[in-house]
Amino acid sequence: MNILVTGGAGYIGSIVIEELIRQGDAVIVFDNLYYGHRAAVHPEAVFVEGDLADQAAVKSTFGTHDVEAVMHFASYTLVGESMEQPFKYIGDNVTNGLNLLQEAVAHGVRRFILSSSANLFFDPERMPIDEDERIVPGSPYGESKNILERMLHWLDRIYGFRYAALRYFNAAGASPSGERGEDHDPETHLIPRVLQVALGQRERITIFGGDYPTRDGTCVRDYIHVIDLAQAHILALQALDESSRTYNLGNGRGFTNKEVVETCRRVTGHPIPAEVGPHRPGDPAVLVASSEKIRRELGWEPQYPDLRTIVEHAWEWHR
Ligand code: UDP
Repeated sequence: MNILVTGGAGYIGSIVIEELIRQGDAVIVFDNLYYGHRAAVHPEAVFVEGDLADQAAVKSTFGTHDVEAVMHFASYTLVGESMEQPFKYIGDNVTNGLNLLQEAVAHGVRRFILSSSANLFFDPERMPIDEDERIVPGSPYGESKNILERMLHWLDRIYGFRYAALRYFNAAGASPSGERGEDHDPETHLIPRVLQVALGQRERITIFGGDYPTRDGTCVRDYIHVIDLAQAHILALQALDESSRTYNLGNGRGFTNKEVVETCRRVTGHPIPAEVGPHRPGDPAVLVASSEKIRRELGWEPQYPDLRTIVEHAWEWHR
């Protein structure tokens, strides 16, 4: 299948592409390289340097390549930044996504996968969080994903547009090939930041908040290996011919920020000094996914559910 991948030079996109190319798909990467890296683009993918804000460029990409499906990874993704720059998120993330959807519809493409987020669930009533949980976005970032999910719902009803909305909990790890991993600038995510301390690139890690109602007072998150996320994309794409789908993706097990730091200490052998600082706005206390639905419907089974393995692969990559 010919698959257009926006954000294919980024962390998750570039690793999903490794899997797509391995199974014989042809990939067109569309990326503005603001955050992505040219070197992360798979050598067998066609690369288009372009911005989703430029509708003519999006249109011409669909016009030039015989696109059969779209995976949309390109997005501003920082919860904290979105609390300071709501227009960048509810503005650009949404507008760029709508430009892409508009051209996909106009060019007869009917298969689409959206990278969505656990930030849809700021105030969950049940834990782990399943797909029936009510949606309360935690930030303008989460709201931008919510709006795009709602648009997909209407495109399905109106045009029979088939989509999968995949709500990632905390993506981590690297490709076991060692070729691709997480490389953000600035880095804001917990595991890579902690590993930067072990590498001597950062003096200590500040844990955001120590008085959450959790077992040790720090936030709880559900970490999922990026390869297991990739597998979910592949299964979801295959299932789209039947119907649209929405899935929460995690391992169903939460770790506190302190436990994550401790796991990194064990993997790296470095003492990793840590201190507790103020809360980061937009952060809910606990986010743990129920992924029973994708297990049941698509037979998804994570290959690397252990946090220690996830950290080991990340550490291999960062070293
Ligand atoms: N976090 C932290 N210190 C950091 C970076 C993150 O304590 O330097 C916390 C953050 O507040 C959250 C958890 O680590 O509780 C995971 O944050 P991350 O940014 O990795 O992912 P998110 O949950 O925002 O997708």
